[in-house]
Amino acid sequence: NFEIIFSGRSNVGKSSIMRELTGKNVKVGKRPGVTLKPTHVRYSDLLLTDLPGFGFMSGVKDRKQDIVKDQIVRYIEKNAERINVAVLVIDGASFLEIVKRWEERNELPIDIEMFELFRELGFDIILAVNKVDKIKSNELDATLDQICDKLNMLPPWKQWLDTVAPISAKKGDIKTLKSLLRQRLHSEKRDDLF
Ligand code: GDP
Repeated sequence: NFEIIFSGRSNVGKSSIMRELTGKNVKVGKRPGVTLKPTHVRYSDLLLTDLPGFGFMSGVKDRKQDIVKDQIVRYIEKNAERINVAVLVIDGASFLEIVKRWEERNELPIDIEMFELFRELGFDIILAVNKVDKIKSNELDATLDQICDKLNMLPPWKQWLDTVAPISAKKGDIKTLKSLLRQRLHSEKRDDLF
């Protein structure tokens, strides 16, 4: 078994990305931020796991957010041994603004916390920076540099082409993510999947 987990705030585009990757609709009857259980999609012999979205949840109390976080951490720790790749999905157009808000409250943004956890657990990490269609093209490099900096990857971002995949699921442009996944699967002789 080869498991790839997808983690990120609600609404960053996880479902869209997984649909682009597999052709399967993962968001069946799923209201944003309300589902606590991970959703699984089988794709050949891969297991793709959509973890509950954290962060923004309309009409959901703060305490519920902690529960979501605990659920995610519990799932990840319980299944760490079979998880091969962890994809953190962020909304490239709003990430820096959200991080700034958390930092002003002296809090560690959940995205950054998750990324650190993935590192500690030794996962092979991919950072999918989604919604780049919403970033002006002349600001893209600087934005990606700052995003990397926040996640403790020394800029320039192009030093991290093995980890960072700028994509737009909405436009169906996820080739950088596919290529990073293909890299990870290559040694497993599954390189024809993406
Ligand atoms: P999830 O909650 O993370 O599973 O996010 P969804 O896949 O449901 O997407 C949330 C919203 O963001 C939807 O309205 C999508 O159409 C939109 N979206 C997803 N990917 C992109 C993208 O690359 N660019 C833009 N502009 N919107 C996107």
